[in-house]
Amino acid sequence: MQPFAYACPNTLADALALLAERGPGARVLAGGTDLIIRLRDGSASPALVVDIKRVPELAPGIRNEAGTIVIGATTTMTEIAASPIVRRHAHALGEAAAAVGSIQIRNRATLGGNICNASPAADTAPPLLVHDARVVAAGPTGVRRIAVDDLFVRSGITTLAPGELVVAVEVPMPASRIASAHQRRTRRRGHDLASVTLACGVDAAGVTRVAFGSVGPRPLVRVDTSGVLADPGAPDAARADVLATILADASPSATSMRAGPEYRLAMLRVLGRRALAIALERLAAGEQ
Ligand SMILES: Cc1cc2nc3c(=O)[nH]c(=O)nc-3n(C[C@H](O)[C@H](O)[C@H](O)COP(=O)(O)OP(=O)(O)OC[C@H]3O[C@@H](n4cnc5c(N)ncnc54)[C@H](O)[C@@H]3O)c2cc1C
Repeated sequence: MQPFAYACPNTLADALALLAERGPGARVLAGGTDLIIRLRDGSASPALVVDIKRVPELAPGIRNEAGTIVIGATTTMTEIAASPIVRRHAHALGEAAAAVGSIQIRNRATLGGNICNASPAADTAPPLLVHDARVVAAGPTGVRRIAVDDLFVRSGITTLAPGELVVAVEVPMPASRIASAHQRRTRRRGHDLASVTLACGVDAAGVTRVAFGSVGPRPLVRVDTSGVLADPGAPDAARADVLATILADASPSATSMRAGPEYRLAMLRVLGRRALAIALERLAAGEQ
């Protein structure tokens, strides 16, 4: 590991000032479960590491603010998985958080870090896409909101501007509630990154959103407004056709060590069917 300076600012203004002053030589540290590995293997060698855990605006917490779930950037997977408001209004997000890594990883790994790391396999990405979430980003020019769908570019790359920090994630709770489910496939039992990660959300108006990751350079979301997927009485063949269209843009790497493209595409369809069935059951039962 290369030596680096460490700063642990107590205010957002100080954190932003450090990032502005040191430019690309500074890296943000939240839980460190991605960054520390990169510091150790030398694929990241910042001159300064800025620890954001003491910045009050990014503090862990999950609250209902006028019909929106607001999740502080440094909220851990453990906290998200245990949150009744997440389980009630964004079930897939709670399930995804519970599936990340191991107990030790979930106790450290933050939602902000999972998004900003921008791994195509990030488990919280599909549920956030299904629930149409946005990030609140603070930077040198102020605060802005970015739809999660507009954030991901490719592995490790987001549309965050230099010096910007994710402060919080907002998950809307629409009047037509979304019943959702998360599914994933890994190479082995125990903790592992997903070979396929997928979430499905269905609302009472018949709109179905399916988001999937680890099958291309970034997680994708697709929407079925035809009502076919949301219709429990639709013929299997009709559903399979719509699902195939929705999943058509998956483009898994041919060289990944985790799983071959044929396997991933086959599993994507299986997980799509399973998540849809669970989401429909939850919708029928009045759950989210
Ligand atoms: C053993 C192991 C198992 C894992 N299993 C899974 C898994 O099953 N599913 C999964 O999705 N992930 C998994 N991960 C990856 C990792 O745990 C998650 O991506 C985690 O959520 C990252 O959060 P963090 O707080 O640790 O991020 P950090 O490592 O602190 O940061 C990650 C990146 O995001 C940047 N960053 C962090 N917070 C912010 C912010 N608020 N604003 C701007 N930039 C920020 C950092 O600079 C860094 O580039 C695993 C990791 C390990 C080591």
